[in-house]
Amino acid sequence: MQFSTEQFFDRLTPADRGLIACGLAIPCFLGYLGWHAFVLLDDEARTLVRVGPMWVMQVSLLAGTAVLASIAAWLWPRRRQPDRHPRIDIAITNTIGLTMGTVLMMLGPFTTPTTLLIVGVLCNGMLLFNLRTMAIATAVFIVGFVPLDVLKMVGRMPYAPAFTPRVFPGGDPVGWWSLARDLSFYLGLAVCVVIVFFLFGQMESLHRQLQKLSVTDVLTGLANRRHFMARLQTEASRPAGLGHTLSVVLVDADHFKRINDSHGHHAGDEVLRVLAGMLCEDLRVPADLAARIGGEEFALLLPDTDLRGAQRVCERLQERLRRREFDFDGRRFQLTVSMGVVERDGEDVPTLLRQADRNLYQAKQAGRDRAVYGPGCAQPCESGQEMPA
Ligand code: GH3
Ligand code: MG
Ligand code: MG
Repeated sequence: MQFSTEQFFDRLTPADRGLIACGLAIPCFLGYLGWHAFVLLDDEARTLVRVGPMWVMQVSLLAGTAVLASIAAWLWPRRRQPDRHPRIDIAITNTIGLTMGTVLMMLGPFTTPTTLLIVGVLCNGMLLFNLRTMAIATAVFIVGFVPLDVLKMVGRMPYAPAFTPRVFPGGDPVGWWSLARDLSFYLGLAVCVVIVFFLFGQMESLHRQLQKLSVTDVLTGLANRRHFMARLQTEASRPAGLGHTLSVVLVDADHFKRINDSHGHHAGDEVLRVLAGMLCEDLRVPADLAARIGGEEFALLLPDTDLRGAQRVCERLQERLRRREFDFDGRRFQLTVSMGVVERDGEDVPTLLRQADRNLYQAKQAGRDRAVYGPGCAQPCESGQEMPA
């Protein structure tokens, strides 16, 4: 089986993404905790560190681990659900940012935690979460830690508070040199961060456009067959009988081939666009869905709507078509449609669509320009019959 990173990321649910972030950060925090514990317990190593700042790091790492572990425990049972958890994403990214920020402030900015923050947290965060979440975490980090670093630059705070002067036998560099060094570092870092945000921003926008294109019919702008089937599966997975009625209407333009033959393909396209517009009129947004599922075939998905409700929708469409006269090169004509309508009564999606198709076929056989309803209309009309007025 071929492994594709693109497919891997596309298949991740929002909870999966949070779990991956926690799964990457917790071992890293535990690694630092263990290393610091070793330094504090070892007589030789302890002479190189200041105990107070070491404990600040340990408390921060322990708190960060506890927060991420609790979030992971909350996310675990939700890992198959498609729901987004924007606040949880913000909590994860900020917990990681603030914990790593505390470590890098205590160990000195030009050390491994900074590399981890730039390469690990920023880049991985962009892949797992969205731009907004990462922008918030970056802003919190800048507000929280840049002032401390400015204190270091002007000599008001040691470069690495956790280390004793034995680690830096030559002492800290003179103020102007550390200022020049830090400013050039921050300038380079700022450019890098802007580029990362720009590239990921472009990627996010392209991904959104692609997602929209993949569910949209190009000619009419309605949902396409793929989107219709996905929504139908979702709606049909809701348990029937708990007040979740669902009606489906298949709409097929009558004698459409004649329109193409007499007025040209261009006119046919325009008629399809007008029909699509009519299908969208007075649908309940966003519950109802109008889709183009084939050449001159459309479908309406009407959640929480019984056959009576679907009948009203069909009648309104027929009324609109009756009032509309098409005119191409001075030759006028009217369009009619045939419709197959079903109300779901616990059956699976293929059975439901087969029944709707059968009803559509009957409408065509009975002379077109009409709707046939059923099953589920034993009262007030017989299955597979035109519903009486
Ligand atoms: P019926 O009442 O039995 O449905 O007859 P019909 O002519 O509508 O059905 P048929 O299946 O014979 O022909 C469908 C026509 O729809 C043929 C095809 O050229 C046309 N068609 C399909 N897609 C498009 C499209 O995107 N644009 C245009 N202009 N025509 C299309
Ligand atoms: Mg047709
Ligand atoms: Mg057809």
